[in-house]
Order: sequence, then C-alpha cells, then structure tokens
Amino acid sequence: MSAQRVRRKETPATRDPWKGRGEDHAEAEDPFRDASRADYVYRQMRQAIRDGHFRQGDRVREEDVARTLGVSRTPVREALRQLQSHGLLDVAAGRGLGVVALDRPQVLELYAMRALLEGAAARLAAQHATPAEVAYMRHLLEEFRRTRDATRHAAINRALHEAICDAAHNRYMMQSLQQLGDALALLQGTTFSVKGRPASADIEHKTIVDAIAVGDPDAAEVAARAHIRNAESLRLQMMPL
Ligand SMILES: [Zn+2]
Repeated sequence: MSAQRVRRKETPATRDPWKGRGEDHAEAEDPFRDASRADYVYRQMRQAIRDGHFRQGDRVREEDVARTLGVSRTPVREALRQLQSHGLLDVAAGRGLGVVALDRPQVLELYAMRALLEGAAARLAAQHATPAEVAYMRHLLEEFRRTRDATRHAAINRALHEAICDAAHNRYMMQSLQQLGDALALLQGTTFSVKGRPASADIEHKTIVDAIAVGDPDAAEVAARAHIRNAESLRLQMMPL
C-alpha cells in the first residue's frame, strides 16, 4: 500500500495536469486536495470513535470509510495511517485494522500524562492568559452550569480545556495536548454521566480559572492536576475490571 504511494509520488513527470480531470486517478494525484480531505476523514473518524459509533476493537475498513464519507480511498488511507500513528487504530492479528482497545494500564498512563500536561497548561495560562481569554473561560463555565446534558457537558469541558491550552500560548504544549486529546477519544462514554460529577467538575473548573485569572501559576497547576486525578478515578470506576 505504502509502496504504491511512494511510486506515484516519484513519477510526477508522467502527470498531465489537464488530462483526466474528474477521473478517479486524477483526484488521487492532487496532494493538496488529498491532504485536506485526509484531515476531514481524520476528524470524522475521531468523532465517530469518541461518539461510540466505532467501539474499541471494531474493525475499520478503508473502502467502508470511503463510501460512508463520500471520498476516494487515497485520503482515507492517509487518515487511517495518521490515526494509527496517533494510537487510535492498530493492526491486530487476524483482524486487520481496528479501533485500539485500551486496557487499564494504558488508561493509567494516559491520565498520568494528561495530569502533567493539563497542569503545565494551567500554569502557563496563569502566566500568559489575556483578559479576553479569561472572560471566554468564564463564559464556558456559565454554559457548563446551564446544561443538564452529559454529552453537552463533555463538549463544553473539552472547549474549556482547549481554551486553557490556547491561553498557555505555547505551540509545543498545544501539539502535545492535541495528540493526547485524540487518544482520549478512545475513552468512550463520559464521566459527566456519573451522578454528581457535573457539580464537582464545575467547582474544580472554577478553582482552575480563578487561579489563572489572578495569575497564580502554582495554584492553577495544583488545581488542574487534582481535577484530572478526580476524572481518572471516575473513569476507572466506569471501566470493567
Ligand atoms: Zn474538566
């Protein structure tokens, strides 16, 4: 599969940009269009995994994804390769490509890393957040309080953690958290469906945002780490032993 890709890229001289427009092979040879389509497929797949349309261990077939999303197989192949390299898909013996099934030790590893990175993001945000960024975080806190729906809570929670990451103003932090956020899509269901969790998370979020607002990096980091630790213990309770 990858050998074919390489061969095609190595022979650009054979390509006539005007010939065969609209045909399948011409579409497959436009790297820019393929790149944006691959990105689209990647995001759709990540969301489908997050929403549980694909369950852990489910097989993922290139042709099925291409047909469902109405794109050619080239961007699908690229997106699946990226999902594999980011740890969302893997190849299991006798099964082909499938959604990674996280075991308990992997979940612990994921949360350990998340606690460190979210803590560091909150610390940097306390040093660098603008008043507008803090105002946006407070707006999200209000939104979170207004909703009664667990899926919506999870979406607003993601937006809040992204806002904290943005306010850190560090592109490497952003990359690391984005990649970790992709892996979090494998944790299906949401801890916000646990009774009492939206209320306790709201208090924890407010503690983090207050520390960022007053520019207290130590307090922001401690609060963010504690928040992730609490999410972790709920997540472990939700997992089968
Ligand atoms: Zn949170």
